[in-house]
Amino acid sequence: SSPWSQFEMAPTDPIVGLNEIYNKDDFPSKVIVGVGAYRDDLGKPYVLPCVREAEQILMDKNLDMEYTGIAGEPKFVDLALKFVYGEDSVPIQENRVHGVQALSGTGGLRVFGELMAKHGHKHIYVPNPTWGNHIPIFTNSGLEVRKYRYYDAESSDLDFTNMMKDIKDMPKGSLILLHACAHNPTGMDPTMEQWKEMSETIKKQGLVPFFDCAYQGFASGDPVKDASSVRMFVEDGHLISMVQSFSKNFGLYGQRIGALSVVGADEDEAKRVVSQMKMVIRPMYSNPPRQGARIVTTILEDPRLTQDFLDQCRGMADRINLMRTLLQDKLAEAGSTKNWDHITKQIGMFAYSGLNKDQVMEMREKHHVYCTADGRISMAGVTSGNVDYIANAIHDVSK
Ligand code: PLP
Repeated sequence: SSPWSQFEMAPTDPIVGLNEIYNKDDFPSKVIVGVGAYRDDLGKPYVLPCVREAEQILMDKNLDMEYTGIAGEPKFVDLALKFVYGEDSVPIQENRVHGVQALSGTGGLRVFGELMAKHGHKHIYVPNPTWGNHIPIFTNSGLEVRKYRYYDAESSDLDFTNMMKDIKDMPKGSLILLHACAHNPTGMDPTMEQWKEMSETIKKQGLVPFFDCAYQGFASGDPVKDASSVRMFVEDGHLISMVQSFSKNFGLYGQRIGALSVVGADEDEAKRVVSQMKMVIRPMYSNPPRQGARIVTTILEDPRLTQDFLDQCRGMADRINLMRTLLQDKLAEAGSTKNWDHITKQIGMFAYSGLNKDQVMEMREKHHVYCTADGRISMAGVTSGNVDYIANAIHDVSK
């Protein structure tokens, strides 16, 4: 008998599986606004020109393909941390922020989960809703996942009052995950005043804040502005930890490039934590791939390429924001009398439309427009060519 006979077919991932359903549909004007990957206005994948240039520079250097260290490329980690904390950040200047290269956001989250589970943490609080993968990542790391209220579906708005209530109920020493900007899936971030209140309460409660920063530069178009929440917490004296992803802002999805870092009370403490991250990494995947790190390093160590990156990143954010306005306008044009203000109020890659599961399914079957079951629309997939069609489909299933 086969050693595999008792293996059952696992369910397909709700987000990744959407592509498979879409690919089987042969309707000519089908549209997918599912996976969170940027598309240009023709609906095509986009490689930033600064990335192409960096690739050419690297090619001309004839670099070797040796293993990097367990913690990845030190120069990349250094530049990645300065990119988010800011060069003038006090703990950066005091050399008490250290980190490792990570297999993008996902890999960094998993390493962090295991690290904390190994060091006495039993649970982590995540917003409700949150990026779907957070839950199995932390569960598989050995942490119990608890939720705090974040979003009010009724008003399509941040549920700040209840979020603060839940934060005040968290036991001292609890880990709390915060989306640094462009909250996925709701696209709704706290204001800076609200972040301030959260920072104070999180400190008063003695919680351990952990930032997931997957969209730096993608929310407002400006990576410095998008790092404001993180920088405020650091200025307020929190000893934060953070995972960064370069998938969206640099368009390096398949390169799996990110960083996991920690702010220590002093240099020695931060280095001790990093040494423990390496203990998690070594038996998991030994060391990370090099090309993505080399690309980001080549860009961020060159002022001209950095400026090109900033312009190109802003270009992506601007296009998405233009599509938000267009989608809202087209909904009105299609005759919708519903309030769609949240589409332009939300930021980042997604519009959390408020469509329910039945409406999402109807939109798939009747209009061949594919978004995730929670009504999350990837704005990156909306183009000037398909926005009318999408608006009409949304209106038809929601009227
Ligand atoms: N965290 C959040 C909030 C995300 O939305 C994503 C991607 O969708 C990730 C992390 C991880 O992405 P990656 O592993 O490509 O960096």
